[in-house]
Amino acid sequence: MADRPPSVDALARSLRGSGLPPPLLVDAARAALAAGRPEAAAGLAEELRAGWLQPVVNATGVLLHTNLGRAPHDASLPASYTNLELDLTTGKRGARSDHVGALLARAAGAEAALVVNNGAAAVLLVLAALAPGLGVAVSRGELIEIGGGFRLPDVMAQSGARLVEVGTTNRTRVADFAAVAGEVALLLKVHRSNFRMTGFVEDVGVADLAGLGPPVVVDLGSGLLDAACPWLPDGPPAWLRHEPAVRQTIGAGAALVVFSGDKLLGGPQAGIIAGAAELVARCSRHPLYRVVRPGGTVLGVLQQVVLHYLHRDGGALPFWRMAGADVDGLRRRAEGLGGGEVVACESITGGGTLPGVVIPSAGVAVAGDVTRELRAAAPKPIVARVVDGRTVLDLRTVDPDDDALVGAAVRALGSR
Ligand SMILES: *Cc1c(COP(=O)(O)O)cnc(C)c1O
Repeated sequence: MADRPPSVDALARSLRGSGLPPPLLVDAARAALAAGRPEAAAGLAEELRAGWLQPVVNATGVLLHTNLGRAPHDASLPASYTNLELDLTTGKRGARSDHVGALLARAAGAEAALVVNNGAAAVLLVLAALAPGLGVAVSRGELIEIGGGFRLPDVMAQSGARLVEVGTTNRTRVADFAAVAGEVALLLKVHRSNFRMTGFVEDVGVADLAGLGPPVVVDLGSGLLDAACPWLPDGPPAWLRHEPAVRQTIGAGAALVVFSGDKLLGGPQAGIIAGAAELVARCSRHPLYRVVRPGGTVLGVLQQVVLHYLHRDGGALPFWRMAGADVDGLRRRAEGLGGGEVVACESITGGGTLPGVVIPSAGVAVAGDVTRELRAAAPKPIVARVVDGRTVLDLRTVDPDDDALVGAAVRALGSR
C-alpha cells in the first residue's frame, strides 16, 4: 500500500526553511496536496515568493523600464516623524506641498511647484482646477496615448474640461490656436514623448502660443529639468539634444509645465506641476489635490533627488550615472564577467521618453533565449532582452555592484 500523504500541517512545517510566513506555507502545502503532489510543495512556495515585489537586475538596457519601476533611486529615509505639515518657524500648521515644492521650483526656474502622485494625476488636476467646464485647446497632432490607459481625450473628459481640437494630425499653426483663443481657458501642448512624426509636419512652439492670451500649459511628460544639464560635468549628452526641458519651456512663456518624477528626473513615481505661483496655488486648493497628494515617503525621496540637482551632483543620481556611463568602461565590465560573448549593443531611455533615440552600450550575449533561466536567478532575478535569437545583457542599466551576480548567472548558463 502506498504511503499516506502528509498532513497540511506537517507539509507546511517541512517548508519552514524557505522563510515564507506560515499562512503562505499552508497555502503552498494545500495546493500541493490538492494536486496529489506533496513533493511539489517547495516549488509552489518559491512561485509564491516570485510574486512578491522585489529588487531585480535590469540587464535590458532600457533605462526607464516601466515594468521595472522606471528610474531607480537609492534614497532612503530614517524611521522618524517629520515636519510634513508643520511649519517649524511658526509652530503652526504647514503644507506638505511647501518643502520640496519650493526646492523643485528653484531647480526648475519656476515661481512655484506642486507634487502629486504621478504625471497623469498632475494633468488631471491642472485641467480640473483651471478649466472646469471650460474649453482647452489642443493640437490634433498631440492627442496622445502614453500607455497604461493614459489617453489625453479621456483624461480631459474626466477632468470636466472641454476638449477643443485645433489643426490637423500633421500640421497645426499659430492661427489655429489664435482662432479659438477667445473661447478657451487654457492652451495645452502635449509632448509626443513616445512617438515621432516626420514628413509634412508643422508644429507651434510655446513662445508663439504664449502671446495669444490664455495661459499655456505644457505636458512635458519626461521631465528633463534643464536642457543645459548643469548637473553633468560635460553638459548634455548628444542623445538628449532634441528633448524639451522644464526650465527652457517656462522661459519660453509656459504658465505651467507638468512632468513625471520617475522619468528623466530620475526620482520616485510622482507628478510635478511647476510654473506661475497663482496657478500652482489654484491647483493645490482644488479638492482633487487631496485625492492625489503624495505621502511623506515620496516627498522625502524626491527632496533628496532635487537637492542633488541643486548641488549639481548628477553623479549622485543612479539614472544619470547609468545614462552617462562610457562605453569603454561598460565593455571592460563585460569582459570581467567571465562568461558570454562581449558585444556592442544599444540602450534606450524607454518609459515613454526619447522615441527612436539610442545610446551606444556594451554587454554580453548568450546563445538562444535564456530569459526564463535568468529570471529565476538568485538572489536577484535578472531581466534581459532577446535580440536576433540571442539573449543580450546590456550592462548600462546594471548596477556595477550586481556584476558579480550577473557574471555567475551567465557562467552557470555556459556550463549547462
Ligand atoms: C509619461 C507621460 C504622462 C503620464 O505620466 P505618469 O507619471 O506615467 O502618470 C503624461 N503625459 C506625457 C506627455 C507623458 O510622457
